[in-house]
Amino acid sequence: MDQAVQLQLGDDGILVATMNLPGRPMNVVTDTLMEGIAAAVARLAEPGVKGLILASGKADFCAGGDIDRMSKWTTPQEPFEASMAMKRVLRQLETQGKPVVAAIAGHALGGGLELALACHARIVLDNPRLKLGQPEVKLGLLPGGGGTVRLSRLVGIQATLQICGEGADFSPQKALATGFITALAATPEALTQAARDWIAANPKAKQPWDAPKFRFPGGDSKSPAMAQLWAIAPSIAYGKGRGLYPAVGHIMSAVFEGGLLGFDAASVVESRYFAACCLSREAKNLIGTLWYGLNAVKKGASRPVGVPPQKVAKLGVLGAGMMGAGIAHVAAKAGIEVVLIDTTQDAAERGKAHTQALLDAAVKKGRSTPDKAAALLARITPTTDFARLAGCELVIEAVFEDRAVKAGVTRQAEAVLRAGAVFASNTSTLPITGLAQASARPAQFIGLHFFSPVEKMPLVEIIVGAQTSDETLARGFDFVRQIGKTPIVVNDSRGFYTSRVFGTYVMEGLAMLAEGVHPRSIEEAGLQAGMPMPPLALQDEVSLSLAVHVADQTRCDLAAEGRSYDEHPGMAVARRLCEIGRVGRKAGRGFYDYDGGDKRLWPGLTGLYPPAPVQPPMRELVDRLLYAQAVESARCLAEGVLRSAVDGDVGSILGWGFAPCHGGTLRFIESVGVGVFTARATELAARYGPRFDPSAVPALAPREGHPPS
Ligand code: NAD
Repeated sequence: MDQAVQLQLGDDGILVATMNLPGRPMNVVTDTLMEGIAAAVARLAEPGVKGLILASGKADFCAGGDIDRMSKWTTPQEPFEASMAMKRVLRQLETQGKPVVAAIAGHALGGGLELALACHARIVLDNPRLKLGQPEVKLGLLPGGGGTVRLSRLVGIQATLQICGEGADFSPQKALATGFITALAATPEALTQAARDWIAANPKAKQPWDAPKFRFPGGDSKSPAMAQLWAIAPSIAYGKGRGLYPAVGHIMSAVFEGGLLGFDAASVVESRYFAACCLSREAKNLIGTLWYGLNAVKKGASRPVGVPPQKVAKLGVLGAGMMGAGIAHVAAKAGIEVVLIDTTQDAAERGKAHTQALLDAAVKKGRSTPDKAAALLARITPTTDFARLAGCELVIEAVFEDRAVKAGVTRQAEAVLRAGAVFASNTSTLPITGLAQASARPAQFIGLHFFSPVEKMPLVEIIVGAQTSDETLARGFDFVRQIGKTPIVVNDSRGFYTSRVFGTYVMEGLAMLAEGVHPRSIEEAGLQAGMPMPPLALQDEVSLSLAVHVADQTRCDLAAEGRSYDEHPGMAVARRLCEIGRVGRKAGRGFYDYDGGDKRLWPGLTGLYPPAPVQPPMRELVDRLLYAQAVESARCLAEGVLRSAVDGDVGSILGWGFAPCHGGTLRFIESVGVGVFTARATELAARYGPRFDPSAVPALAPREGHPPS
């Protein structure tokens, strides 16, 4: 049986169409799948067939569109035709005059949900892990299979804007409450029975929008209630995305225009906007990095081959502070036994209490049960006794950022560890090769750089020291995957990759201040560049005193190596603010004043750095913030700090939120075009200094889909 959709007619006259795309782990909307559904529609038309159940033979119902096919489209006709072809089949399905029910026992996302929306009823297995939704916007696309058209007629315009514009997943319960599924079933058997019952009870099923007196729930686009919504929705969307995500605007336009038109005309309009999205630069960037890149990274593109995969059963965490407690929590959550060590029993217990607090909140919100929470908590053993580390396959230190303290715990741990165990440091700034000098087995020493807060941040930067072995790297990589995080692999260097490039963003903002750029313009430029937080606010979060401390340490270290240190012009600003006690958010005073949850730019800032009478154009500021990061990333690649461009792109988005619409720091260069980028960076270098010098850019090898200009 290698048909995409298998058909089975029961004695009761109900045709079951089971989607099971050959050679694919999941069902995706391909021509083959749609041909199978078209065959089901033809069979449904036969006399004697009373109704149809659309089901899946795979774990998911249908995961969405075929990204591989979409990535090959080069003209707007291709996506338009593909989208219209899918719609023709779905329209036939829902206008046969016979009931069609989607029996959904796994994820129904994107095109998968669109298939289900063309059925007269959607009955869903009540499994809280099951996901329903229209996530296309996250890849710069919009639902091109009638999603905006049917949803707006099913749940109203406002809910449709939310479902398609935000792209969030819905649990079955939430989908039922929102109104885009019909009913829930407790078990797979009950699901099939409910689908059969629905067909028996609705022999002449029709879609609401095909009824003669159909009205949009909540009103169509020209109704007074919707007119109010349309007056503000575009500005809210612009405020969030600064116009960097055209798909959001296209979704709004498709829903707005579709809300003024009949079903068929609205479908054509949606397909036109779909075509516009498919060919946009933003969709190519998002798909390139957050689909292909991320999948490659997770599958182990940077993991040494030939080392058998291994799991960690027992983990040691040294230091139960902010980071150690977070690492212990995510490991215990993944089922790993954790020994959590600090200098006093109280401090170790406080680290475990962090997990207790997170679990209490999860139980309260219904995300966990008291039993599961208790089992997770029991996996963490707080102690001061290093002997308890015996049997650990991996130990991660997260003690103070101090070489001597780190060296001490390395030796203490290694004294009890078995021969094959790996020792990792969560240092944020200290080169791994130097820290490994305290180790008796530097080949088994590695950097595992987590981000704060550990529970939320998806990235771990793995740092390979000069002596770290491939086997150690593979084990670090496997552990990061085991706890469900995304690993990028970089070679050892000061600031590694993420801290080094992230620093160029905030420092550029600080340098602008010294030049007389108005602080409000600097912050606006950060947001217009697509960064989640503007530079001055971000520097306040990470603390100005920390930046000064790291710079001083770097100067010292380089002097010891006989090298000089060219300080970034932004650093003088950080020093000046520290001198007057404005060290950042933790002190309640930095570039901003903090008053409880409120913050506002410190009024004295323009006294300290008077704005110049002529302000530079916003484009110049935005370019500086983006180019500074891109040039530094290209340097990381040229110097071999980054081992691959894809790690650089994924790391920049997941690590410090580099504007996803640009596809990451390096894809940004390709997306602008290497020639154009180099010319502009040269211009910026002449104006602001060698930090913009693009001579490292040629290290970027052209990647598929992005020919260099
Ligand atoms: P923290 O001060 O919150 O915690 C450090 C903990 O280590 C304290 O509980 C301390 O009692 C304990 N400790 C100190 N000496 C010890 C010893 N000899 N044996 C056992 N425990 C000892 O610090 P943190 O923010 O959790 O940072 C820890 C490490 O993680 C540092 O190296 C830091 O640079 C790095 N890091 C921090 C962040 C961040 O955002 N805070 C991010 C990435 C990496």
